[in-house]
Amino acid sequence: MIEIVRGDITKFPAEAIVNAANRYLEHGGGVAYAIAKAAAGDVREYIRISKAAIREQLGKDWIDHGEVVVTPAMNLERHGVKYVIHTVGPYCGGRWDAEKREKLRKAVLGALRKAEELGVRTVAFPAISAGIFGCPLEEVVRTFKKVMEEFMKEAKNVEKVYLVLYSEEDYRRALEVL
Ligand code: ADP
Repeated sequence: MIEIVRGDITKFPAEAIVNAANRYLEHGGGVAYAIAKAAAGDVREYIRISKAAIREQLGKDWIDHGEVVVTPAMNLERHGVKYVIHTVGPYCGGRWDAEKREKLRKAVLGALRKAEELGVRTVAFPAISAGIFGCPLEEVVRTFKKVMEEFMKEAKNVEKVYLVLYSEEDYRRALEVL
């Protein structure tokens, strides 16, 4: 059910792609900026859409770990993407502990459950929190794998989940973990 691939998630043909967002959906850098740019062309426009979506879907202006917000795929539809699911992983700054693992577990599981609710069959994840948020990639991949084992028992619509690693180096390290 889980497959590790190397590539650019903005070009990946999954029905739902997950964004490693910050809690206000500012899409200021990393994969969030790349997704916003690819989806809307104008990043500021996608930020506007995203902030309206938080208000509408959560009734507040931020996202907690485990909560998710869905925005339209816009230009990503050309790759077969239907939804972008925004989730917020932990900030690590190089440190890792049980609390960060739990926050990441919630973030990944929340996105998977939303994908299930949306009825999609395929979902692509980036290495949430392993970039600007500074969590160790190996721990992120290990946590991802554990959550997948948990989710598999409840999945009905989702058939396949991809973990998309951007760099060759990260891809190699992730493969070693699995
Ligand atoms: P976070 O703030 O959650 O750490 P980042 O966007 O900084 O989020 O990084 C998360 C991961 O996404 C990093 O491993 C980074 O290399 C990767 N990444 C960045 N751009 C892309 C992309 N276009 N496709 C897939 N992964 C990407």
